[in-house]
Amino acid sequence: MTRLLIVGPPGAGKGTQAARITSGYGVPDISTGDIFRANIKNETPLGVQVKAIIDSGDYVSDELTNALVKSRLEEDDALDGFLLDGYPRTLEQVQYLDELLAGKGQALDAVIQLVADQDEVVARLRKRAIEQGRTDDTEDAIRHRQEVYARETSPLIAVYRDRGLLIEVDGLGEIDDVAGRIADALAERGIAANESSVESA
Ligand code: AMP
Repeated sequence: MTRLLIVGPPGAGKGTQAARITSGYGVPDISTGDIFRANIKNETPLGVQVKAIIDSGDYVSDELTNALVKSRLEEDDALDGFLLDGYPRTLEQVQYLDELLAGKGQALDAVIQLVADQDEVVARLRKRAIEQGRTDDTEDAIRHRQEVYARETSPLIAVYRDRGLLIEVDGLGEIDDVAGRIADALAERGIAANESSVESA
């Protein structure tokens, strides 16, 4: 049972590393951004509601986001562990998650912070915009997302550091190297990967 968060500025490689952690530790990758994007693509009522907000680089309301995470964490695959990717992103969401987990007698095991240089991050995002055609990856939206992250989400780091949960990992470099740093830091906390997946990673 491993309950993890991964946080970092847009473009720090959260999604890539989250996919590695998912296969390595046998926990589902719960990305609020991916869930919102799937809803937008399928033109669900939620998708229609959030599309303009996401395209502008602002955050979806805490109310909508919290409700989404609550129902996702009730699904079978998340009962014994999870990696939350891109959530919580505001102090209100931190508080909501605390209460939600406490209500189930659960707690977080670690919070992985991917640290990355701003210029590097913007370059990565522009590359992704071309490769994946993400409509929230325009230059203005990228810049705006960095500002929103600095204002709304970076304060969360201190909260988790104070709780002794924070693992800071240098997010720059090869994907395998970053994944290795995460695995080492988790191992130091007694959180081990599945043996088979480590061999294949
Ligand atoms: P991401 O893929 O994690 O970068 O998320 C893409 C976009 O989805 C963000 O820029 C926000 O507009 C929205 N979003 C994702 N997660 C959250 C969250 N926890 N709170 C509010 N908005 C979110």
